[in-house]
Amino acid sequence: TKSEGRSGYCFYEAEMDERIEARRALSTDLRGALDRNEFLLYFQPIVTKEGHLRCFETLLRWQHPTRGFVSPAEFIPLAEETGIIIPMGEWILQQACTIAKQWPADVSVAVNLSPIQFRHSDLPLLVRSALRESGLAASRLELEITESVFLEATPAVKVTLAELREMGLSLSLDDFGTGYSSLSYLRRLAFDKIKIDQSFVRDLPHEHSGAAIVRAIIDLATSLKMTVIAEGVETEAQRRCLASLGCHELQGYLFSTPVPAEETKILTNRLGLR
Ligand code: C2E
Ligand code: CA
Ligand code: CA
Ligand code: CA
Repeated sequence: TKSEGRSGYCFYEAEMDERIEARRALSTDLRGALDRNEFLLYFQPIVTKEGHLRCFETLLRWQHPTRGFVSPAEFIPLAEETGIIIPMGEWILQQACTIAKQWPADVSVAVNLSPIQFRHSDLPLLVRSALRESGLAASRLELEITESVFLEATPAVKVTLAELREMGLSLSLDDFGTGYSSLSYLRRLAFDKIKIDQSFVRDLPHEHSGAAIVRAIIDLATSLKMTVIAEGVETEAQRRCLASLGCHELQGYLFSTPVPAEETKILTNRLGLR
């Protein structure tokens, strides 16, 4: 009979193999998913502090033939590792602009960008062609970028950001507060908006230190003339607290979960335009 340690080792190894195998299978599926039209765009409203619709954030969904809906948290990292994020990101941008073109003219669309897209594709070219082909005005497009882009804040990244801004669209710093050196990015890079990560919003209004951090972020951003958006707003109490702290815009289940494109019209009617 095997010793306990030995069997423990075998068990661990088998589990590892299984996990690697599962990832391999998923990335094979991912490769064909775009051609098979398995991706869908969902949209979640971003509202003014009065609760009126200003923008929809585009959130990707993968309808897997056997596994059902797979979370972007699970497949985006895989798409990044395999490079599939490049054609996928191109499709998302094109599709989001085309759908947004059908909304009322003062409703914007926000699109998440992966750091990989900064390194491996000509973003300004991509954005320009998505705008041209959809006919959407640049002023209605917002690109959401996480801090991880700047872990390598190379001159090339800065040039790309400047070029994008010159086109007339706006740039949002996503998941603000979860990375490090956030404050120095704010000073060095020109962003129009910051999105306060939902981890800060979750504990409001009960957690006093949390409220102090959110207040500091809002005050700083406001003095830099940036718009502050709070993510993950789920309760009326959170909404009131954020409003009293001076937050400009809100997003979260309190207003709506992400919905398919067909349901954006119902939401537009329900929330009203700003
Ligand atoms: P994110 O950009 O920070 O998006 C916000 C996430 O919070 C979304 O999860 C959204 O459904 C969820 N959320 C919205 N309101 C609430 C709320 O009130 N409470 C809670 N607990 N959660 C809320 P989702 O759709 O699963 O997306 C997860 C992440 O996947 C996104 O985080 C983003 O980083 C990435 N992602 C999604 N779509 C795309 C895409 O098209 N391109 C890229 N590159 N990444 C994407
Ligand atoms: Ca986002
Ligand atoms: Ca976010
Ligand atoms: Ca996030």
